[in-house]
Amino acid sequence: MFMRYFARFYSAMAGPRPVVLSGPSGAGKSTLLRKLLKEYSGVFGFSVSHTTRNPRPGEENGKDYHYVTREAMEAAIDKGDFIENAEFSGNLYGTSKAAVQDVKDRNLICILDIDMQGVRNIKSTDLNAIYISIQPPSLDVLENRLRNRKTESEESLQKRLHAAKMDMEFSKEAGVFDVIIVNDNLEEAYGQLRDALLEEINQVKKVNMSS
Ligand code: ADP
Ligand code: 5GP
Repeated sequence: MFMRYFARFYSAMAGPRPVVLSGPSGAGKSTLLRKLLKEYSGVFGFSVSHTTRNPRPGEENGKDYHYVTREAMEAAIDKGDFIENAEFSGNLYGTSKAAVQDVKDRNLICILDIDMQGVRNIKSTDLNAIYISIQPPSLDVLENRLRNRKTESEESLQKRLHAAKMDMEFSKEAGVFDVIIVNDNLEEAYGQLRDALLEEINQVKKVNMSS
């Protein structure tokens, strides 16, 4: 009884657990994330990563990513500003300590959208995250989605498909992900994501209402 009370007290003190969303590029992570942030704006906050890739049409600096040069990013990594960083498809990506702290300071559940290298690295930190993998129904469907998105050059697309094959294998490794969602029908996948996070959502709502 006491232990249960203590565990609950401790977890409220530590704040909500961050949520890591991972999965192949084109699987639908950003689409699902946008829906979640829209429905639960006072519950979730996005950890805005840094990247050296160019913004896509419609993306905003400081909202989707912090767009930086490789030199600036390498200098910041050397300074120790990042929790994790990785090279993906020829560009650097990374989660800064400030990005996660900013969301925590607002008492929101921090969502990270990171690749499989990021998942491995975050697992070795004390972040105590919930790990969710978003997978496409198949590689062919993924390729169609990436082509229809019209954001990648042929070279970038091929690199992403190559990485996707490894990611789809990685997601099957025992003990890596708490939940695996196959994003075939968008509304169904979104329902599964919401259900997986309902306990955390309700906890944050309760804490924020009483403060
Ligand atoms: P990611 O963030 O994982 O790279 P996106 O969210 O950008 O992927 O999705 C890739 C493309 O697939 C986008 O054009 C998006 O509109 C589309 N898409 C996402 N989910 C679905 C789905 N369930 N059915 C069909 N198209 C989808
Ligand atoms: P995109 O260029 O499509 O936005 O992202 C490419 C890949 O980089 C995706 O798998 C995405 O999850 C990953 N990514 C985005 N931000 C980060 C980050 O901060 N760290 C890591 N490791 N991967 C990231």
